[in-house]
Amino acid sequence: MTYDPENIFAKILRGEIPCSKVYENDHALAFEDINPLAPVHILIIPKGAYVSSADFTNQATDPEIAGFMRACGEVATRKGLDATGYRMLSNHGVDAHQDVPHYHVHVIGGCDLGGMMKKATSANR
Ligand code: 5GP
Repeated sequence: MTYDPENIFAKILRGEIPCSKVYENDHALAFEDINPLAPVHILIIPKGAYVSSADFTNQATDPEIAGFMRACGEVATRKGLDATGYRMLSNHGVDAHQDVPHYHVHVIGGCDLGGMMKKATSANR
């Protein structure tokens, strides 16, 4: 996948569309998901142009990766999730139903989230 600079998160980074910002550092921006799946649902995105987790982990610099991961932890702490727990997930590509082609991590919590996921098999494709 090549990076599409017109994707919705690129527009949020450029300030062309609004977001409800939770946290920002030199390498990452965190904001409320527009369609929350739990009482807390935050998206953390790198400021660099990376399509997916594979692109980010292969191409990003160590400071970018460190800044991004620290932002994920900071968001969970600021949202008060450390004590009760939370889930971090990232969807990569078609099988995971990645909708927005700018790498992002979901931080989800604020209630019992249930088991990790429904058991999947190759028959699902
Ligand atoms: P994905 O399926 O790519 O892992 O998740 C994309 C997420 O982005 C979804 O949870 C969706 O609700 C969220 N989203 C899509 N468009 C917008 C938007 O314009 N603003 C915000 N804040 N979230 C969005």
